[in-house]
Amino acid sequence: MATNIPLTGEFKVTCEYKRKGSWACGWHTGIDLVCDNDTIYATCDGVVTRTGYDKSYGNFIVVKNDADGKYHWYCHLSKINVSVNQKVSRVSKIGIMGSTGNSTGKHLHFEIRNTSNKYADNSNPADYMGIPNKVGTYNSSNYQVKEPSKPATSTPVLKTLARNTNLRNKPTTKGSTAVLYIPNTTLYVLEAGVAKADGYTWDKVRIRVNGKEGYMINQNYK
Ligand SMILES: [Zn+2]
Repeated sequence: MATNIPLTGEFKVTCEYKRKGSWACGWHTGIDLVCDNDTIYATCDGVVTRTGYDKSYGNFIVVKNDADGKYHWYCHLSKINVSVNQKVSRVSKIGIMGSTGNSTGKHLHFEIRNTSNKYADNSNPADYMGIPNKVGTYNSSNYQVKEPSKPATSTPVLKTLARNTNLRNKPTTKGSTAVLYIPNTTLYVLEAGVAKADGYTWDKVRIRVNGKEGYMINQNYK
């Protein structure tokens, strides 16, 4: 399920964001979360800008939010499943909760840094997730504040055939029905490289003049 919360199901806030004067965790740049399901989801659509190990943060992932340019830090992980420059969305499983770095038990320290990405220049992650910034037990299903944005659909690329080529109803030369198109037929590549079969890479295409959609071997364009 899509979520703005990096966890799914029942979870606990064990240390609040920027709670001053507390013996438990003092001034705090993020929020500490614990959950039996230790899969960590990205909290925004964005790109991974950093992964690594830090003696305080342990294994960490930083995702830059496409929407507002803020940096989401996921810390103390036992496992990192993404790499730098990888695009993630709110349904991406980016890591596994752990207790690496300066940590006394398995939890996620989740922090949102403002566009400076500097330590202590933070936003309140509880506000972002729409949960109370308060120690307690919550369930992610009650706090699905936003639907995930639709993946960006890129404009189909117009191409011209270089030779006689079949448009097939399946991305294979075997058992698919085919209609022959001739050189100079123009078509839109809807999705390049949708399948690899029979030694070819296949594209999903739409013939421009009649709107017919199907699959074509991708090496036959001018
Ligand atoms: Zn923390």
